[in-house]
Amino acid sequence: MRIAIVGAGLGGVTAATGLHLTGHDVTLYERAPDLRETGTGIVVMPNGLAALDSLGLGAPLREHAAPTTQGGLRDRAGRPLLVTDAAKAQERYGQTIVVDRAVLHRTLRERLPADCIRTGVAVGGLAEEPGRVLVDGVDDADADAVVVADGIGSRLRARLFPAHPGTERTGRLDLRGTLGTIPGVEDLLTAILIDRHSGAMFGLFPMGPGGLYWFTDTPMPATVPEPEQAREQVAELMADWHPAVPAVLRATAVADVHVDPITRLAKPLATYATGRICLLGDAAHGMTPDLGQGASQAFEDAAALVEHLEGATPAEAAERLGRYDAERRPRANRLMAASSRQSRLTTRTGPAAWLRDTLLRATPPALAARQLAAIWLTRGQHR
Ligand SMILES: Cc1cc2nc3c(=O)[nH]c(=O)nc-3n(C[C@H](O)[C@H](O)[C@H](O)COP(=O)(O)OP(=O)(O)OC[C@H]3O[C@@H](n4cnc5c(N)ncnc54)[C@H](O)[C@@H]3O)c2cc1C
Repeated sequence: MRIAIVGAGLGGVTAATGLHLTGHDVTLYERAPDLRETGTGIVVMPNGLAALDSLGLGAPLREHAAPTTQGGLRDRAGRPLLVTDAAKAQERYGQTIVVDRAVLHRTLRERLPADCIRTGVAVGGLAEEPGRVLVDGVDDADADAVVVADGIGSRLRARLFPAHPGTERTGRLDLRGTLGTIPGVEDLLTAILIDRHSGAMFGLFPMGPGGLYWFTDTPMPATVPEPEQAREQVAELMADWHPAVPAVLRATAVADVHVDPITRLAKPLATYATGRICLLGDAAHGMTPDLGQGASQAFEDAAALVEHLEGATPAEAAERLGRYDAERRPRANRLMAASSRQSRLTTRTGPAAWLRDTLLRATPPALAARQLAAIWLTRGQHR
C-alpha cells in the first residue's frame, strides 16, 4: 500500500520504518527543515521496548542505552516511601532503558531510506475520496492510507474531529536535563522523590556511559520561564531536599535544560481511525508524563499498525485501520487516565499528602510491583 505518515517524531519515524520494512511504499512528511529530536533523555519502559523488538528496532537501541530498574518513591530527603520490587517485575516483563532522545530518534529511523522522507513540508489537511486520501499542502500527493502522527497539538486531529476539545494544561511545569555524572548521586539513581509540602517531584536516572538524566515536576508559575530562570527557581524550591538534588540541577548547563508546561488531551478520542486515516502517538493519546508511557504507547501503536496492515491491499485499508483502533484505543485511553491519576497522587500537598505517604509506606513491595506490571504488560500479554 502507499502510506503517507504526517509527523516525524518518535511515533512517526517508528511507524514509517516498520511499515517500510514490511513492504509498504512509505512517505514520511515532516514540517521541520530536518529530522531531529531535541530534548534530553527518555525512559523506555519494558512494553515500549518489546514493541520496538517486534519491529526489529530494540537490539540496536540497547547498544546506546543504560538499563535501569525503575519504580518506587521516596520523600524529598531520599527516604523510601513506596518500595517496589521493580527488579522482579522487570524479570517478568523485561528491561527498562534510559536513552538520549536524539540517539533514540536516529536509531529508529536508521533503516528508512532517504527517498521516503520529505522534510520542510507542513501538511495542511487531508481529504478522503473513494479509494484514496489527498494530502493537502503537497503537490498532487495522495495515498491509500494516512497515519497522523503530528503530536499532541495535532492540527489534523482538530480538523478530523472538530467537536473534540483538544488539549489542556495541567497547571504543572516539567524541566528535564542531562549532564555528565557528578559525585554524590549514586544514592539517588533511579529514584523518584516526591514532597508533601510543595507537591514537587524530582527523578534521576543513569543515561548511557557516564551520563545522567533528570526531571522535575513543579506547580506552574504565572508564565513559562526561560531555562536559566526555571532551573534556578526549581533549585531554590529544592534547596533543602537530598543534597544531590540541587547539586544536579545547578551542575546542568542551561543549554541542556528543557522546559515544558505539561499538557494532555482534554478528553480521550472516540476513535483512532476514520476511513483510510488513523492517528498515532501523542496525536491520538497525548498524556501527562507521570507513568513515562507517552513514547512507549506510540511504539505500541506502531507495532500494532504494522501488524494489522501486513499484507493489506488498498481496498482493505479502512477495515485494517479499524482493527488497529480496536486494539489500541482501550489500552492507550486507559493509560491516559492512569497517568492523570498518578499525577494527582504524587503532587498532593497537606493532610491528603500525609495520608498518601502513610499508605505508600504500608504498601508491600510485591503489591507495588503488581501495579507496575499492569502498565508494563507487552502487546502479546494484554491482548
Ligand atoms: C516532560 C516530558 C517528559 C516525557 N518523558 C517521557 C518518558 O520518559 N518516556 C516516554 O515514553 N515518554 C515521555 N514523554 C512523552 C513523549 O515524549 C511523547 O509521547 C512522544 O515524544 C510523542 O511522539 P509523537 O511522535 O507522537 O509526537 P511528537 O514527538 O510531538 O512529533 C510530532 C511531529 O510532527 C511534526 N508535525 C506537526 N505538524 C505537522 C504537519 N502539519 N505536517 C508535517 N509535520 C508535522 C512535528 O514537527 C513533530 O516532528 C515525555 C513528555 C514530556 C512533555
